[in-house]
Amino acid sequence: MYRTHTCGELRVKDAGKEVTLAGWVQRIRNFGGMIFIDLRDRYGITQLVFPEGIRPGTQDQKTSVAEKANVLGREFVISVRGKIVERSNKNSGLPTGEIEIVVDELSILNESKTPPFTIEEETDGGDELRMKYRYLDLRRNSLQQNLLHRHEVAKAVREYLDSHGFIDVETPHLIKSTPEGARDFVVPSRLNPGQFYALPQSPQTFKQLLMVSGFDRYYQIVRCFRDEDLRADRQPEFTQIDCEMAFVEREDVLQMFESLVKFVFKKVRGIVLPDFPRMSYDEAMMWYGNDKPDIRFEMKFNYLKQETFGCALLEHDDDNIGFKVFDEAELVAGICVKGCAEYSRKQLDELTEFVKRPQLGASGLIYFKWLPAGQLGSNDGTFKSSVEKFYSSSRLKSIAESFGAAAGDLILILAGEKNKTRKVLGELRLEMGNRLGLRDKEAYRPLWVLDFPLLEYDGVEKRWSAMHHPFTSWRTEDNAYLETDPAKVKANAYDVVINGVEIGGGSIRIHNRENQMRMFNILGLSKEEAEMKFGFILNAFEYGAPPHGGIAFGFDRFCSITIASQENIRDFIAFPKNNMGRDMMLDAPGEIDERQKKELGLE
Ligand code: ASP
Repeated sequence: MYRTHTCGELRVKDAGKEVTLAGWVQRIRNFGGMIFIDLRDRYGITQLVFPEGIRPGTQDQKTSVAEKANVLGREFVISVRGKIVERSNKNSGLPTGEIEIVVDELSILNESKTPPFTIEEETDGGDELRMKYRYLDLRRNSLQQNLLHRHEVAKAVREYLDSHGFIDVETPHLIKSTPEGARDFVVPSRLNPGQFYALPQSPQTFKQLLMVSGFDRYYQIVRCFRDEDLRADRQPEFTQIDCEMAFVEREDVLQMFESLVKFVFKKVRGIVLPDFPRMSYDEAMMWYGNDKPDIRFEMKFNYLKQETFGCALLEHDDDNIGFKVFDEAELVAGICVKGCAEYSRKQLDELTEFVKRPQLGASGLIYFKWLPAGQLGSNDGTFKSSVEKFYSSSRLKSIAESFGAAAGDLILILAGEKNKTRKVLGELRLEMGNRLGLRDKEAYRPLWVLDFPLLEYDGVEKRWSAMHHPFTSWRTEDNAYLETDPAKVKANAYDVVINGVEIGGGSIRIHNRENQMRMFNILGLSKEEAEMKFGFILNAFEYGAPPHGGIAFGFDRFCSITIASQENIRDFIAFPKNNMGRDMMLDAPGEIDERQKKELGLE
């Protein structure tokens, strides 16, 4: 028998028992003959002692065990038999820290080369090396815990959906394109030379067809493939919790899946989430400059100038000559950072550099410091600002007050083109949230973002594209504008956002041929193209398609966010790819041989 117990379960109450344990050698300490070994398995670490010297009556055996232990190295796989004893020198940091095993018998089950990095929490291995030896990295406790967590999340999701009548249906991976806005990965077909399958960007069309078939409530924890440029929170293949329901309106879907998210947090983390506030896309952009706002902290935008707001505060008169940058900007907006009036020149320069980075590209940052009373000899506070030459101090005060500011606060203002300025200000807000520790990793603030625009104009391609995907329906009240004023039309779409991370999104779908054709037409597909690409779903809509809608959650992200708001999904995927979409361990993608190419009609 390799083991009677795991390395995580023995306690002081077990003292005196004879046990057999198996696992990996984590650490060896040799005190001149007396050898201590930390034995590790998935469940924990137990200290082994190979005592020095000889106990009466066991002379030969003892000597040989200690000698054998001498040859052990890190990551050897061993099995030991011995007696549990209470430790004199207890380790309160380990659940098994009150005991150790005095070893009588040792078998080496397999040797190990010295691993290329230490298999400890604080490892010395760089990213690429650890990805190459992913199977070793996965021995580290934090990654083991992450995958265990992933398993728990999946179980909770299944439990919830199962109890609400959802059934798990598998859909194919070798398909034709399902448009979600990314490029397709394609697979050449040997039997149909010159032709290709596409891997699904999502099972979108299949889940809709299942509704047409009457399955009513579907889900699948399913792999999706998108050929996109990668970032820390993206992988070319990733997993969705994909769901669809028939005979539902938006409200039904929101309630069902808000409860799912709450259920999972409660079940897996014991966290009771608040009800999800709802915010329209327009509000999110207006107040946070972002369609996935982090509402763990306020710091909403204040506008000094925007089409719909007057700009009285920036008007010129005898005392206020105005500031050219403000006067010429389409939008002037800022945030009030409480209690930061003392920011130094250096800190302000850092923030200016932050907004000027090429990724953001702002041309500058304007600040107002409302210095606390008493400073610079003033009793009621004094302003220090990069625009103090242009406005009187009473005007500066009114401007600051429009931000809800008070003495001691810092105001940061950006000016420029509307969308860009909002975006940069949104990033600056998050940066200030980080600097001030307002983005508490254990505080979860979910919300729904609703009423997205149905379409967005692609200035490069000179055409409209679907903001969500082309199967999303629009609000009935906007029906008349679909062809005449597409920008005005709002979609029946919704996103779930937690702490600034979009974890899921979906929509109520189009379910009749005529509307689906209108949509394709706006997206620039001719009748023939629509028929060729999407004939199957257009046809299905003619055979009694029920009203339906659904949602999909990014499962990897969901797992990472439920653990202390971590944002790197890679740590929650057993075998992820690097930023170039490569599997470092397999060294994939790779070449294929000539014969294979020929067979596939690729030459
Ligand atoms: N298929 C969509 C997506 O992958 C989700 C949905 O609309 O249900 O984003």
